[in-house]
Amino acid sequence: MTNSSLLEACQLGEALKDELVIDIHGHLGPWGAFYLPEEGSPEAMLRLMDRLGIDLVVSSAHLAIASDHIEGNKQVIAANEAYADRILPYLTYNPRYPWEPTLAQAESLRAQGRLYGFKIHTGSHKVQSTDARYFPLYEYANDLGLPVLSHAWDGTIEGQSALLALSKRYPRMSLIAAHSHNGWEVAEPRVEEARQRDNIYLDMAGSMVVFGMLKWMVSEIGAQKVLFGTDIPFIDARPRLGYVLMADISDDAKRLILGLNAQRIFGL
Ligand SMILES: [Zn+2]
Repeated sequence: MTNSSLLEACQLGEALKDELVIDIHGHLGPWGAFYLPEEGSPEAMLRLMDRLGIDLVVSSAHLAIASDHIEGNKQVIAANEAYADRILPYLTYNPRYPWEPTLAQAESLRAQGRLYGFKIHTGSHKVQSTDARYFPLYEYANDLGLPVLSHAWDGTIEGQSALLALSKRYPRMSLIAAHSHNGWEVAEPRVEEARQRDNIYLDMAGSMVVFGMLKWMVSEIGAQKVLFGTDIPFIDARPRLGYVLMADISDDAKRLILGLNAQRIFGL
């Protein structure tokens, strides 16, 4: 095991006070299917973040993923207004609806210097990431060099995986592949794709903790391609933080994963 002050903080149960920790896969608000503490309120999230030393979370609203992306976006915008230095908004786009209302929300945030990135949920909205209805969003994000977090970059175009093909078509857009650590059958193809393209990043949010996976991923593609994400408050943030802090990788690698990569990608 590598000598690690971050591991020691974890073992002592201390919050990471002097480290930059950015959770790039957060949510917000109630979820219809099961209980969340205080219905996923920003305040409940912030208490847990304080306990762990998570400085910042980039969040999409559960409502935006489930049924109403415009109203959900209003929730994360309001949370960002209340807690500007702790909660950043992802604007979610459901491509079954016209792009213009989401664009209007994006332009309003951009005018205020608060536009950080987009979230798409191909599984929940049942539209593959290669569908042309997403293209206005990709073109906008690419023009501005913004990241897009996708629950799954599924589908194929031109005989390539969606992730590779879209990363080539939109080279200035950072494509963040969510849930990349959810088992070897997910992680192995994601690593091959991230190896080939500078603008592909692998998020670790999810409930599956696979022994040795983070060490393997860092050895394959480098810590600069891996992003800390927890799915808070949908999933408790603690297991994912422990997954990073207890991994057999250097503290420099942990610092990239926990915050420095996100700081660069999100322009913070
Ligand atoms: Zn999520």
